[in-house]
Amino acid sequence: MRVLGIETSCDETGVAVYDGGAGLLAHRLHSQVATHAGYGGVVPELASRDHVRRLMPLVQETLAAAGLAPGELDGIAYTRGPGLAGALLVGAAVARSLAWGLERPAIGVHHMEGHLLAPMLEPDPPSFPFVALLVSGGHSQLVLVADVGRYRLLGESVDDAAGEAFDKTAKLLGLPYPGGPELERLARKGTPGRLRFPRPMTDRPGLDLSFSGLKTAVLNTVREAGDDPRTRADIARAFQDAVVETLAIKCRRALEATGVPRLVVAGGVGANTALRERLAEVAARHGASVHYPRLAFCTDNGAMIAYAGHCRLAAGERQGPDFDVTPRWPLADLRPPGEASLA
Ligand code: ATP
Ligand code: MG
Ligand code: FE
Repeated sequence: MRVLGIETSCDETGVAVYDGGAGLLAHRLHSQVATHAGYGGVVPELASRDHVRRLMPLVQETLAAAGLAPGELDGIAYTRGPGLAGALLVGAAVARSLAWGLERPAIGVHHMEGHLLAPMLEPDPPSFPFVALLVSGGHSQLVLVADVGRYRLLGESVDDAAGEAFDKTAKLLGLPYPGGPELERLARKGTPGRLRFPRPMTDRPGLDLSFSGLKTAVLNTVREAGDDPRTRADIARAFQDAVVETLAIKCRRALEATGVPRLVVAGGVGANTALRERLAEVAARHGASVHYPRLAFCTDNGAMIAYAGHCRLAAGERQGPDFDVTPRWPLADLRPPGEASLA
C-alpha cells in the first residue's frame, strides 16, 4: 500500500510517500523559518497562509520525485493534531479533498505518534516494546510504547517543553530564532563546569520533568554574571548540560522501571548531539539499545506522518468523510490500528 503523508501542524510543510513494500519513496519539506524569524517565534496566521501557498506544489513535487501519478496512491494521511488549529486545517482540507477526488481512504494521524514511530524508517528499527523520550518544541514526555497505538505515559513536563526551554534560553542569550540549534553551537564554545544550573525534579522519585525554572536560573545568571561572549557561551554550555543530564537521569529511571532494553529518542531536541552522546552512554550501561530518526526526521516532516498513516490504513482503519482537526489530543487516547481512538 502506498500512502501520501501530509504534515502541517506548525511551521513546516512536509510531504512524503511511504510504500509498505519498498519503504520511503520520496519526501519533501518546506520550512517557514524565514517567515517567522523576524518575529522571534511562530505566528499562527502566517503559518496557515504559507501552508496554503506551499502545500499543493510540494505534493506535486513529491509525487514527481517518487515517479507516481496521483492515481497510484492507495491512501492519504495527514496530521490531525495536536498543533495550531489553522495550520492543521490546511493539511486536513487538502488531504480530504485529494482522498475524495481520488476515491481513496484518508486517515488523520497524531503528530506525536508520527514523531515516536519515525525511527521505524531507519535501517535499525527498534522492536516493541520500547521506551520513547519525546522531546520537541511542544512536548517532553516519556512513553512506554507496547506496540503501534499502545502508549502509556510514564512522565511528562509539568511546565515548558525541552525544545521550548532551548528556544526561550536562546532568546535570553540574544541568539536568533529558532534557538535550539544555535544554542547547541554556542554551548560548544563554553567551558564545562564554570557555571552550574540545577537538574530539575531529579532529587525526587518519578519521571516527570520541569524546565521553566532553568530558564529563570539563566535569566538570573545573565543579570549577575553579565553577557560578554565568554559568559554567554558558558551559560549556554551549563544550560545544555543541565537539560541533557536531567533527561539522562529520567531515561535511566524509565529503563529501570520498565525493564525494557530499548530507548527511542524523537522530536526536534533529539537532534542535539550532546544529548545523543549522553543517552548512548546511559543505554550502553543498561545493555539497552538506543534508536533515533535520521537528523532530518527528528523535527517535523511528512515521512513520519506517511509511515504512521500507513500503519493505520493498512490495518483497515478509515476516517469518515467529514474532516476535523484535534488541536489538543492526548497520546494516551490513541488505540491500536483498526480500533476507534477516543478523539
Ligand atoms: P511538537 O512536535 O511538540 O508539536 P514541534 O513540532 O514544534 O513541537 P519539533 O519540530 O519536533 O517540535 O522540534 C522543534 C524543537 O526542537 C525546537 O524547540 C528546536 O529549538 C528544537 N531543536 C532542534 N534542533 C535542536 C538542537 N540541535 N538542540 C536542541 N534543540 C533543538
Ligand atoms: Mg518546527
Ligand atoms: Fe513536531
